[in-house]
Amino acid sequence: MKLHAIELRRVQMPLVRPFRTSYGVEAARDVLLVRALSADGDGWGECVAGTEPRFSAEYVDGAHAVIRAHLIPRLFAAGGEITAAGVAAALRDVSGHRMAKAAVELAVLDAELRGHELPLHRYLGAEQTRVPAGVSIGIAATIPDLLTQVDGYLAEGYLRIKLKIQPGWDLEPVRAVRKAFASIPLQVDANTAYTRADAGWLARLDEFGLSLIEQPLGRDDLTGHAALARILRTPICLDESIVSASSAAQAIGMGACTVVNIKAGRVGGYLEARRVHDVCAALGVPVWCGGMLETGIGRAANLALAALPNCRLPGDTSASDRYWARDLITEPFRLDDGHIKVPAGPGLGVLVDMAAVRTRTISVEEIRP
Ligand code: MG
Repeated sequence: MKLHAIELRRVQMPLVRPFRTSYGVEAARDVLLVRALSADGDGWGECVAGTEPRFSAEYVDGAHAVIRAHLIPRLFAAGGEITAAGVAAALRDVSGHRMAKAAVELAVLDAELRGHELPLHRYLGAEQTRVPAGVSIGIAATIPDLLTQVDGYLAEGYLRIKLKIQPGWDLEPVRAVRKAFASIPLQVDANTAYTRADAGWLARLDEFGLSLIEQPLGRDDLTGHAALARILRTPICLDESIVSASSAAQAIGMGACTVVNIKAGRVGGYLEARRVHDVCAALGVPVWCGGMLETGIGRAANLALAALPNCRLPGDTSASDRYWARDLITEPFRLDDGHIKVPAGPGLGVLVDMAAVRTRTISVEEIRP
């Protein structure tokens, strides 16, 4: 495929409800969209890096800078001739910056697949036409407020609830939710907020029948997670720690987790995400698709990933209205019987709502070879 140009666009997206985790509170997303302009048509990617470098070392201004100064020149190095499968190799000598690389790769992949009239989920090898939807609930102001949120999402049809936890907001909110909603699939996400010294305290979560506890310890502490796994009955799922298929295999081999949350941005793109999925399947470990508060553009790709056969748990692939008053796609994702349809059209399978995008645009630049 011949690339003519890459457009880098920043959009400001206010969330319908501020989202609080152990990393802080987000009231809006500052999103970097990458658009690949090619002879075969345009493709879109979304960078999931946050405003601040807290979930990972990457942040949106940094991703924007590295894409402009270091990734795009490498894409254009062969005269703009590139395939999606060749993007990772073209960018390999740039260390790290996985979220930036993933956004670039997705834009090229979307353009390429649209040119071939092939939907992303088919390209990845997925066959499901809809995926079960879970919802992730941030740290609430009070327990009654949390119960109101859980009740509302269950009434909408969400099939599993994930609660963000941190020291001081763990046993009591989980106990209250479990007491009010005895049989719902429930899991928690600590976003690295605990240490090995908290093992005894975290073991007290075992009585609530949680599906899993996600990333209780630091992202580099695989041995700590393996030790914790020997103490807790609740299965341990890793998110921040897993940055590639090889790190997934290593974590599983060490006994650090028995479930993996896949986020394409965190592992450098959807092709590597597919490899994470495959290595986990080969090792008998179920996976699910996480979320990074994406707009409909990134979420469309997540739904394609979530349709893969080893995504055996509901993901954070919620409907558009859980995040945005107005999404950036012409047909927002809706919940239907607790599920969301996997986009069926070529590439991402969604049409970008350019009027919505322009309304939210803060800056836009086009870079040519
Ligand atoms: Mg997580």
